[in-house]
This record gives sequence, structure tokens and C-alpha cells, in this order.
Amino acid sequence: MTTPQTTGRTGDGRGGRGGRLPRRRLTVADVTRVTPHLLRVRAEGDLAGWTADGPGSHLKVFVPSTDTGTAMRTYTVRRFDPDRGELTLEFGIHADGSATRWASAAAPGDTLEISGQARGGFVPRSGTSRVLLIGDHCALPAMASILESLPAGIRAEAVVEVTDPDDRIEVSGPAQPTVTWVTESGRPGGQLMTAVASMPYPQEPTEVWVGCEAGVMREIRRHLLAQGARTARSDSPSPGAVLLHTRAYWKLNTANHSDHDTGDDD
Ligand SMILES: Cc1cc2nc3c(=O)[nH]c(=O)nc-3n(C[C@H](O)[C@H](O)[C@H](O)COP(=O)(O)OP(=O)(O)OC[C@H]3O[C@@H](n4cnc5c(N)ncnc54)[C@H](O)[C@@H]3O)c2cc1C
Repeated sequence: MTTPQTTGRTGDGRGGRGGRLPRRRLTVADVTRVTPHLLRVRAEGDLAGWTADGPGSHLKVFVPSTDTGTAMRTYTVRRFDPDRGELTLEFGIHADGSATRWASAAAPGDTLEISGQARGGFVPRSGTSRVLLIGDHCALPAMASILESLPAGIRAEAVVEVTDPDDRIEVSGPAQPTVTWVTESGRPGGQLMTAVASMPYPQEPTEVWVGCEAGVMREIRRHLLAQGARTARSDSPSPGAVLLHTRAYWKLNTANHSDHDTGDDD
């Protein structure tokens, strides 16, 4: 990733001043099965001027759908090489859904469209000494990208729920991140809430990033807010606080859930 970085998770794939930048059409170069439930799609095309604003930034992907003609879904920039015109996405494979079906069948030569830029990457604020990421298998591309990017000296940790222990991956970076893997049992995301509930509340300046099913995200958010955490809005003072970045990555029984759902309506 070689693009300018900004702090915060506010992106919506729109261009500046509310305008939409034109979509780009990419061609699938190769598809790799990283784990049983994670497919990596490397796509190529004209990405001159296309931007992503930091690790874990997201974009809109437009793929053919048997139901609606075209499905628009939200995915994370796993790798972006502007010079080679390459963008790599990773698709968590779950039971159903247009994007999942498309990725499961994707082959070199297939095409997809993407939004005009990627937004909402995460860079810790100055003064943050610990970053704690909490998420499920479809947030793993974002969490891995963020963990790989954190500088040495930050305490970098993640709790990741996967559906199958074979979905664990190696994650490394200058901060030498620690990943705690939990396996889905009962409802999706339930083991994340259990893990968070058993953690001591952070005593150092910490940013907590949460990406998972909408209901579980709200439970984790409520739990941490009740202990004194604050939401990480751009005007939040940083030093000494536990700041929360929360986002629903999907919602049970709901197709194409909004990528703006941060649980603030609770
Ligand atoms: C900022 C952001 C970044 C994201 N980045 C990625 C990424 O890099 N890789 C990735 O795999 N996903 C990512 N997601 C999640 C992805 O957008 C959703 O999982 C999306 O719903 C998948 O689309 P679909 O067409 O397969 O399923 P949909 O048509 O949206 O949903 C069909 C059914 O599947 C269920 N469902 C949807 N997602 C999941 C899931 N993850 N697990 C279990 N059931 C599910 C729904 O509840 C619904 O019942 C991201 C989401 C956000 C908000």
C-alpha cells in the first residue's frame, strides 16, 4: 500500500465534495484459496489515480448477480499496487450471497467493477500505545492489513473469530502483533463477545477497532462504553482515553447491510 494515509473510519467510497468518482473495471488475474473459507482475488486494470486511504480501507465491488443483475458489496483493500495496476481483495466464504457466489466461481479473465476510491482506513492517533482489533472472518482482511502496518512500539493485538480452526492465518508486522483465535460456536460473533467480556479494561491509551456482525458489534460497543470507553469521532481528544471504532461488517439475515452502521443509533 503506497497511498496517503489519514486517520479515522469515515469513508463511503464517494469522491470529494460529495461527488462519486467513476468506477473502474478490473479483470481477475488469479484466484487463490488462502484457507477453506477465504479466497484471494488479484485483479488488474487501469488504477492510475485510484486511491486508498490507509490500511483496512474499503471500497464498493460490483459483481454480476442472478437476483438483481448487479450486486454492490463492501470489501477491503488487501493489497494495492498502483504502479502495476493491481488490486487484491479477500472474500470470506459464507453460506450465501451474491458476492460470495461470484468469488467462489471467479476465474482469470472474469471482470468486476470497483468504486472510484477506497476510504476509511485505520491509522492510530499519536499518543495511542495499544491497538486492539476485534472481528470475525470477513473482517480478517482488514485486521491483517492494519496489524501488518502498525509500527514497532505499539502493542498490537487482535481477537479473531473464524468458523473453522483451519481458517487461521499467519499475521506479522513491525509491531509483532499477537492474535487470539476463537472458533465460532453458537451464534456468529458470540465468542468475540465472550472474549471481550473476560478481558481487563485497558489501562493505557488504547484504540479498539471492532468489525463483525451488527448485533454483536453493538453488544461489544455497549460493554466497552459502559466501562468508560468513548467513540473515536474526529473531535475526540486522544490522550489517555480508550477510543472505539465500531462497524457492522454484515447483519444476520440481511443482504447488503449498510457499511455506515457504527452502532451509534443504540
Ligand atoms: C467496511 C467493510 C469492509 C468489508 N470487507 C470485507 C472483506 O474484505 N472481505 C469479506 O469477506 N467481507 C467484507 N465485508 C463484509 C461483506 O461486505 C459482507 O459479508 C457482505 O454481506 C457479503 O456479501 P454477499 O453478497 O456475500 O452476502 P449478502 O447478499 O450481503 O448476504 C446474504 C446472506 O448472507 C449473510 N451474510 C453476509 N455476510 C456474512 C458473513 N460474513 N458471514 C455469515 N453470513 C453472512 C447475510 O446475513 C444474508 O443472510 C466488509 C464489510 C464492511 C462494512
